[in-house]
Amino acid sequence: MKIRESVRNFNPYSPGTVDAEIRMDKNESPFSLPGELKHKIRTELENITVNRYPPSSGDRLREKLAEFHGLKKANVIVGSGSDQLISYSAGVFAGEYAVVTPPTFSMYRFYAKLNGLGVEPVPLAENFNLRMEELEEVLNKAAVVFLCSPNNPTGNVFDRGKLIKILETGVPVVLDEAYGEFADGSNMDLIESYGNLLVLRTFSKAFGLAGARVGYALGQAGTVEHLLRVKPPYNLNSFSLRIAELLLENYDLIRDRVNFLIDQREKLYSKFKHYSYSSKTNFLLMDLDADDYLLERGIAVRSFTGRLAEHIRVTVGTEEENDRFIRALRSYIHSTPESKKRVDHFKGDDQ
Ligand code: PMP
Repeated sequence: MKIRESVRNFNPYSPGTVDAEIRMDKNESPFSLPGELKHKIRTELENITVNRYPPSSGDRLREKLAEFHGLKKANVIVGSGSDQLISYSAGVFAGEYAVVTPPTFSMYRFYAKLNGLGVEPVPLAENFNLRMEELEEVLNKAAVVFLCSPNNPTGNVFDRGKLIKILETGVPVVLDEAYGEFADGSNMDLIESYGNLLVLRTFSKAFGLAGARVGYALGQAGTVEHLLRVKPPYNLNSFSLRIAELLLENYDLIRDRVNFLIDQREKLYSKFKHYSYSSKTNFLLMDLDADDYLLERGIAVRSFTGRLAEHIRVTVGTEEENDRFIRALRSYIHSTPESKKRVDHFKGDDQ
């Protein structure tokens, strides 16, 4: 049996699952579905004709998403998580490489490589904003640029002016707004002016639906059409499609929870602002090497290697979880006098 070399040498994605009482490591919602929706979902699911295939492209959900965002169905494609749409978009644009801006979400690199593209990293500046001069040098041979804003794992939003400058070059841009609901605004309005822009969104974070695997991309009809062409039929199952539709119809319930998590994020930030970067997401990046200490106390957070070694990424939890986290991290700081106080972390080289 011969295995392709690119597969033999491929580093699989490792979700790094650990057992812990409190899960603050995966940027999930800490809440299960609202009680009143659970009942509706149960009734709806009973009526699903599971012997039949779902609509091939999830058309009813596409229509509802289009209405929700003031667009047309042709501007929307749905995927099994936004992950699947990263995969499709790494496969449709021609060029030598995908540009990525680390530290950022690792799946852009993963799917670029899987699709036979090179990867050109342009690391973020010290303040985690985009380095424009370095980016502009590599755009002409790029197949696609992956930008994540608000960025995972740093939590910041990139300047809109910089995004527009990149779009003006005509290079395809995939703008991942997986955490967009936790930020103050979106750049999805730019799709009206830029056919080279695709915006990714997901039901996994704000909507609390990570287990159902539903994401979507928005773009001009002609651009979305390319993704629709390469998508396998029935990429979303009937259950996930229906649950996502119901959540969208009840967005007010979701929005209440998002607002609660934003308040909790700000509370956590204010408690640890000497160590934490400010964030427009449902997590905070902190300059503290506390992952093992927290895990010993039943709290899982995300840790890193490389530039963000000795940092932790903490997903905002329920009020009780956050209070327990606050107590544990305070005791870590007290017991670790060498903990840094990064009050000056945004003095970096903004360009
Ligand atoms: N984009 C970003 C920035 C993420 O952090 C994640 C999940 N961690 C995803 C996309 C993928 O989300 P999903 O496939 O669940 O929609």
